Amino acid sequence: MKIEFLGTSGGVPSLYKTQSQHSEALHRTGPAIYIHDLQVLIDTSEDIFYQLRRSQIYDIKYGIYSHWHPDHTMGIRIWETLNYDFINKVPQSKTSKIFLTEQQKSDFKKYFGHWEHLNYLCELGVIEKEIIANNGQIQIGEATIEWIQLAEEIAFGFYISTSTQRILIIPDEIKDFKPIDKLKNVDIAILPFGSNEVNPVTKERIHEAGMLEALNETRFEESVGIAREINATHTYFTHIEATESLNKSQIRILEQQLKDDGLSAVIAYDGLQIIT
Ligand SMILES: [Zn+2]
Repeated sequence: MKIEFLGTSGGVPSLYKTQSQHSEALHRTGPAIYIHDLQVLIDTSEDIFYQLRRSQIYDIKYGIYSHWHPDHTMGIRIWETLNYDFINKVPQSKTSKIFLTEQQKSDFKKYFGHWEHLNYLCELGVIEKEIIANNGQIQIGEATIEWIQLAEEIAFGFYISTSTQRILIIPDEIKDFKPIDKLKNVDIAILPFGSNEVNPVTKERIHEAGMLEALNETRFEESVGIAREINATHTYFTHIEATESLNKSQIRILEQQLKDDGLSAVIAYDGLQIIT
């Protein structure tokens, strides 16, 4: 299976303070992940247009969402951009299927007009939508995708299994998440990085003391703790805030520190592909 990190930034992208460790992906853009074999796109940030162009992804069959927050949804019009036929008198548009859980349906009705926008896209004929249970699952070829409702109930992770592989993807909002046994010892876990009040390598202060607690944000240490419980063969951290501003050598040091502590983890960057 080929999984690509289209964007690895966190909730507050920054125009001026963003960097990652990869020379060809110096900036982190909005969170999105694409599973090539299944043609499944997870989340559509405001950066999705350029991410898809960069990665030359032009044909997406399925769209799924982690939650309604703007960093994961503000590029929702991409379904029109991708699929609408602006050539023929009678449009021969492509159609992608968008799955939302019951929880997400009610959130999309409440925030940003997302539900109305999806209805418009349905009328255009560029998407179909299907509402599934909060712990629902779908089958795509030989893969099953199961929605995992998190402790932060607005948000979902995805458990993808085939006869030979088990993959857990949690794009964001992992705070207080307690993985059930089924989600442990997976082959791959993709998890949110969380945030640091001080740079984990240089110890330089990033945020005012007590800010993460005041905002109820997940700390990096908490994410690492959950990653240890999940105990995947390979762990990838994504959703990395621009304010972290970890440069190439700091990322290497951080990955080595995690390895020394027994966690084999990679800090993802835009364009990183996992082939399993
Ligand atoms: Zn987010």
